[in-house]
Parts: sequence; C-alpha cells; structure tokens
Amino acid sequence: MAEQESLEFGKADFVLMDAVTMPEFMANLRLRFEKGRIYTFIGEVVVSMNPYKNLNIYGRDTIEQYKGRELYERPPHLFAIADAAYKAMKRRSKDTCIVISGESGAGKTEASKYIMQYIAAITNPGQRAEVERVKNILLKSNCVLEAFGNAKTNRNDNSSRFGKYMDINFDFKGDPIGGHINNYLLEKSRVIVQQPGERSFHSFYQLLQGGSEQLLRSLHLQKDASAYSYICPGAQLKCSINDGAEFKAVADAMKVIGFKQEEIQTVYKILAAILHLGNLKFYVDGDTPIIENSKVVSVIADLLSTKAELVEKALLFRTVATGRDVIDKQHTEQEATYGRDAFAKAIYERLFCWIVTHINDVIEVKNYDTTVHGKNTVIGVLDIYGFEIFDNNSFEQFCINYCNEKLQQLFIQLVLKQEQEEYQREGIPWKHIDYFNNQVIVDLVEQQHKGIIAILDDACMNVGKVTDEMFLEALNNKLGKHAHFSSRKLCATDKTLEFDRDFRIKHYAGDVIYSVTGFIDKNKDTLFQDFKRLMYNSSNPVLKMMWPEGKLSITEVTKRPLTAATLFKNSMIALVDNLTLKEPYYVRCIKPNDKKSPQLFDEERCRHQVEYLGLLENVRVRRAGFAYRQTYEKFLHRYKMISEFTWPNHDLPSDKEAVRKLIECHGFQHDVAYGKTKLFIRTPRTLFTLEELHAKM
Ligand code: ADP
Ligand code: MG
Repeated sequence: MAEQESLEFGKADFVLMDAVTMPEFMANLRLRFEKGRIYTFIGEVVVSMNPYKNLNIYGRDTIEQYKGRELYERPPHLFAIADAAYKAMKRRSKDTCIVISGESGAGKTEASKYIMQYIAAITNPGQRAEVERVKNILLKSNCVLEAFGNAKTNRNDNSSRFGKYMDINFDFKGDPIGGHINNYLLEKSRVIVQQPGERSFHSFYQLLQGGSEQLLRSLHLQKDASAYSYICPGAQLKCSINDGAEFKAVADAMKVIGFKQEEIQTVYKILAAILHLGNLKFYVDGDTPIIENSKVVSVIADLLSTKAELVEKALLFRTVATGRDVIDKQHTEQEATYGRDAFAKAIYERLFCWIVTHINDVIEVKNYDTTVHGKNTVIGVLDIYGFEIFDNNSFEQFCINYCNEKLQQLFIQLVLKQEQEEYQREGIPWKHIDYFNNQVIVDLVEQQHKGIIAILDDACMNVGKVTDEMFLEALNNKLGKHAHFSSRKLCATDKTLEFDRDFRIKHYAGDVIYSVTGFIDKNKDTLFQDFKRLMYNSSNPVLKMMWPEGKLSITEVTKRPLTAATLFKNSMIALVDNLTLKEPYYVRCIKPNDKKSPQLFDEERCRHQVEYLGLLENVRVRRAGFAYRQTYEKFLHRYKMISEFTWPNHDLPSDKEAVRKLIECHGFQHDVAYGKTKLFIRTPRTLFTLEELHAKM
C-alpha cells in the first residue's frame, strides 16, 4: 500500500477501498482527479488519469524522491513503476516490461516519455560517454518518430498512428547501453485521406511550415498546405503542434541520431514527392488514361532520382506475365489512381520503417561480452494504440482492436499468474476469482481456418474479382453462430447495421461495428511490382536501399506475399510471446473527458474505461487473498515501535517471529497469513489501524 497521504486526497491504492464496488471506485477516482492526484495504485498497477494540464510532478526533485525507494513507500506515480522495473532488472537480473494501455488520448505516449526520462535521469552516474550517447538517442528518437508517425485526430492532437515497443538494454552496472524499437502497423491510409477534422502525419505540415524558402524551392513546394490535395483537408485546422518549431527540432534530433545530410535531404524529397503525387490527375482519352499535368511527373522523377518516362510508365502501365510472355498492360483510370495512391502510401511506410531501422542501427548493443560483463538485461516499454471506436470503423480499427484484445488477454494471464505465483512462492493457499476471459474474442479474430483473419485471407486468395460483400457473406456463413459476431443479414431486425456493409464484434471493451468497405484492398495491400522496380533503380542510394525487392522481375515474383492482417497477426503473436517472458508492470491510462478539459470528470466515459480495463476485477484479484504484503524486515522497520517486543530491537530468532509477536499482541492474528518471506494482511482496516497506532507513537 502506498504511503498514506492525507485522506483528503482519497485512497492512494484502490485495494484499500472499504467495499469493491463501482460507485466507490468512481468516487475515489474522481476525488483524486479533482485534487490533482492523477496516479493511483492497484497493488503494483498504476492507474493514470490524463490531467490535460501541466503538473509540476516530473522534475528532478520528484525523481530524487522515487529513486531506489520501494513501490509502496511513496505516493503513486509513474516513477514508482519505472523504479520498480529498474530495480527488478538491476537487483534480480530480470527482464521487465512496462505495458501502457488505454484509449486514444488517455496519455500513453506522454507516460512512456516520462518513464524513459526517469530511467535516463537515474542511470549512468559515472557519466560514461557511450552510455550518454545511447541515452541521448533513445530520448531524441521520440521526437523523430512522433513527427513521422503521429497526427492530429479528433481525439488527440498528437495521436500515435503506429504501435511502439522499445527495449532498453542495460549492462551489469545498470546503465543503458543500447536499445531496439519495434514498430507496428503504421496507419498509412492517412497519407492519402483523412477523416473530417483530422490531419495527415505531422511531417508534411512541419516541412511546409518549417522548411527554409530555399529548401522548399528545391523541392518545388509552396508553403501553403492547402495546395496539396493529399493533406489539404487538414491544412487549415488548428493544432497544438507548433509545426515550424518542430521541424527544426526534428532536424536536430535526426542529426544527433546520426542521419547524414544526404539522408535527411532524401527524407524531405520523399515527403515532397508524395505531396506532388497527390496532385497528379488522370484523364481518359478514348480508353487510355493520360496524365494531365506532366510537369508534375518530371518533378517527382527528379525528387526520386529517376526518369520522368519511367515514372509515367509505372503510373499508367503494369507489367504482367501471361504464360511465358511479359506484356505491358495499360491501366484504366481507376487502376492508375489506385496505383498512384498505393505508391504514395508505400513510400511513406518504407520511409518510416527505414527511420526506425536507422535508429536501431545506431543504438544496437555491440560487442557486449556476457562472459566479462555479466547478463545484459532489458526493460521494454510498450506504447501501442488503444481501443478505438469511431463513427466509421475500418480495417485499421479492426487490427487495433484485435491488438487490444491480445493485450487484455496478456493482462489477465500475467496479473493473475503473478498473483498465483506469489502465493505459491510464499506457501499460501490461493482462491480463484472470476473475471471475463476474452480469449473467445481473440480466437474469433485469429484462429486458424475459422477466425476472421483466416476468412479474410481466404477471400483475398480467390482468383477473379473479389468484393468486400463476398467477404461479408463468407463471414456470415462461417461465424453466424458465434456469440461475439453479428451482422444485419443474420439479424434482420437490427437497424443499427447496414445490410451488406457491416459486421459487429462484441469486444471486451464494447461493441464495434466495422464497415467491410476496403477490407479486401487493405488486406491485399497490392503495390504493383513496377513501382518497386522504379524505386530500386533510383540513382539515390538511400531510396534504392529501401526497396530491395524491386530487384525481382515480374516473372520472379510468383510467391504470394503475406496479407496485411496476417503480418499484423504474426507481429502481435511475437509481441505477446516476448512480453510473456518478461516481468510485467502495468500503467492503465484513463481519459477523463472528450473535451481535453483539465476540470471535467465525465462520469459516464470514465466508468466505461474502468469497466473495460477490468480495473474492478483487478482490485478483486488483488484483494482475493490479501490487500497488503510486505517483507518481514520492512514491516518491522515501519511498525516496530508499536510493540514492546520489537522496540527498539527484538531478541526473537527471526524477523518473522518478531512480526508474529507484534501482530498477536494487537489481536490481528485472524487477519493475516505468514508467508516464507512476507507478511500478508487480508483487510485494509487492519492496516489502517496499524497506521493509526504508528501515528500515535
Ligand atoms: P495517447 O498516447 O494515449 O493517445 P498522449 O500521451 O498523446 O495520448 O496524450 C494526449 C495529450 O494529453 C497530450 O498531448 C497532452 O496534451 C495531454 N497529456 C497526457 N498526459 C499528460 C500528463 N501527464 N501531463 C500533462 N498533459 C498530459
Ligand atoms: Mg500515443
């Protein structure tokens, strides 16, 4: 239990609630939020409320208060979790991970940054240059990744549109010596289209706002974002990101990370090429689509270091292999537009992945000799998109929500597992607690042959024209009886669903209606080989490197690439496998309201999040047995003055015996269990009484 602050601020640990009920949980959450206490524990889990204002609680003095202290000794804070993970890593050589979850705008990314800052602040007392370099890059990488991977959405001005898992490697001294970033499913459809009120990725606006006149001229760009149809809808939107200032910060960060000047220039050229691509128009002359503004083609060719004829050809034709012949097949206007958009999305995605790879190259742990230096341990920080329910939910939301199902499943397993293991280790009997197990929904999505992804892949495999409607039909046939799946065809009276468009998944966090429109396309994620070859043949070495498979000719690319959903599924399974091997720490983020207001506690919205994050169950599990546990030594340290047997020192054979004596002399023996190394106290009331006795001394 956290050190007791005055009760005026509510209970610092939900485990101490008098009764585990929703109203009491909500009352405590609200009280703490209103008093500016945004963090609350549930045992070792931190519940975090987005304050929507800057709080003075992350400075050097606060860091000092948490450094090296036990989790429960200080008021709840991200730093407490960060320190616990760090200590586990350093003292017990455990690989640990900090999993941050919550919906969009709940404060995950900010939390991950504070955690990194904390770790950076408490390590490398010896100021070793190499360690400083690594730390600096780890911190700076956020700025770059956010520029290219974040965007203004209706929920968050700085919404991460990719998932991120970052490992930090530590040497035997506990100093960071390297790291690795895994990125997950960038929402690349945003490159070509955005929902009303949203923007494309920050990087585009930053370049236009912050790039010098000379730079923009060399890229054939004008400052006004509304001149570019791919990003135009967002051009006039107010956004709390200062694009001009960020442009410079990102450029500096890239230099610190070690991007060379030509590489940074290439990044700008790619952004510019995408903007120009979006302005290309096709018109049809007879059967043949023709590019209306061929000057733009030359500009694009120039930026991508290739020839205008080649760009034009890739936009208007595709090479197909028919038997032994290879022919150039002319696109229809629709195909040409499709190809152009696919190309724009693909070069952006490649750019993003290349940036991540580049960062990884410079922070990769090199020459670490475990025989000399001992084990190299890891702290992983996971900041991944939260559950999303939009007015219009598509393939992206489907993937994101599946990811959240996986993480919820992990939470259930690990939090329960940890608890069980602790009781077993300490030799204390364990009582089972009921909770909703979402494995059934995970299976609905990912099961081989029967799951939604398998059905989608099957549909994409069909030769000939496959439509989204056919995919829906297949879902209906195969999943009609599934308790967590429904569609209008299956339930004709359900007016909330469109007849041949929508299906609904009953997620653990609520029902989500997905529109099948675009599922097939987005899953196939086709990019004509012609574009890959175009990029591979670019005379810009950086670009060429991003497109190794462009080397293949059309007759060599026979193998069907894995679909987007299957790639995502595989990466999620690998992620979960990786996290399972680590000792987990959890931060559960809650968004207090949808107005970004620091005052408003929206009861309805908060309760919903508390429900689907399973926080009440979490408290129950935590209390099932025992609300509080502490090692005998630490317990004595705090309470020895309340008993004549232990004050100032005891002469009993062990701390355990001394604690037993102390507990019995106050009549608490029916409310405790004695583990091998720890005392377990069942009800919070006992602890309060102990605290009161302590306060009276
Ligand atoms: P998420 O990653 O969960 O989508 P973010 O971490 O980007 O959400 O937070 C959204 C916004 O909320 C931030 O841009 C910031 O304005 C505000 N915010 C979040 N956490 C904090 C915090 N601890 N202190 C102050 N403001 C915060
Ligand atoms: Mg985020």
